[in-house]
Amino acid sequence: MAGPQLTAKLFSRHGAVWATFGHAGASLVGMLLVQRVFLDMLLPHLLPALEAMFASSSRFMAVSNLCGLAGAIGFWGFGSIFAVPALVGCKRWKIQPLRSLDRRMLLQSLPLMLFNSAAGGIFAAVLLTWGLPDVAFDWHECPGVGTLVRDTAVFMLVNEVLFFYMHRFLHVNKRAYQTIHKVHHKWTAPISFAAVYAHPLEVLFGNALPLLVGPLLCRSHISTATVWLFAYQVHTTCTHSGFWFCDDNGMHDEHHAKFNVNFGVHGIMDHLYGTFKLPEASVTAAKQA
Ligand SMILES: [Zn+2]
Ligand SMILES: [Zn+2]
Repeated sequence: MAGPQLTAKLFSRHGAVWATFGHAGASLVGMLLVQRVFLDMLLPHLLPALEAMFASSSRFMAVSNLCGLAGAIGFWGFGSIFAVPALVGCKRWKIQPLRSLDRRMLLQSLPLMLFNSAAGGIFAAVLLTWGLPDVAFDWHECPGVGTLVRDTAVFMLVNEVLFFYMHRFLHVNKRAYQTIHKVHHKWTAPISFAAVYAHPLEVLFGNALPLLVGPLLCRSHISTATVWLFAYQVHTTCTHSGFWFCDDNGMHDEHHAKFNVNFGVHGIMDHLYGTFKLPEASVTAAKQA
């Protein structure tokens, strides 16, 4: 089965409108699953090392290490896996099948990508270290299911709204587009790592801040915040991969291709503003499903 058809079968059975709300719901459930897997299966093994790290170094250094680890595995680890099809020149399941990877551009982009990845991690560590209450760093006070559901729903909603308005502003305001957001749009057919190819100000205030406001508002546990940052970095490398295994029906790839559609993450805000548009192949496949 072709990529678009398979994606449509899985996520778009009820057409494009329901696809976005279905996608938001599936993302919430998936995010909760990742949180529970970490708490139930990984944390018991990691607890001694985490407690030792927080006891032997400053809180800022310990949180920086967690943010660095989330970026190293979530962004660079998963991003490398999602980049393989583009790097080997695979055409099957490519969202923009007529486009291929510009390897020279990727090499030239790597220094800024590395800088932004590190800057985003430090920015997150600063806000989480000094923005969360002391109890958030007690590894024996991890959240229960109810708190996890509330926190994750708030994280996603806040990120959808803030990211949408900041991103839309960077397009609507011509000066902001020319001086800041144009950098990210150098990639019209992106590869996973292009998620962080942007003006550093955009990475900090347009990308990282909307992710961090939710944990700060909820006064979440550091484990919940770190796993959220990890999962979101996997998600953003996936949606920039350029292939149909992305988890947003090609929504963000279409933004890079068309510029003036899909400013949000889940499509909810784009539905309200009439800017939601899936790639033609995905829409066609949804109608056939
Ligand atoms: Zn992008
Ligand atoms: Zn844009």
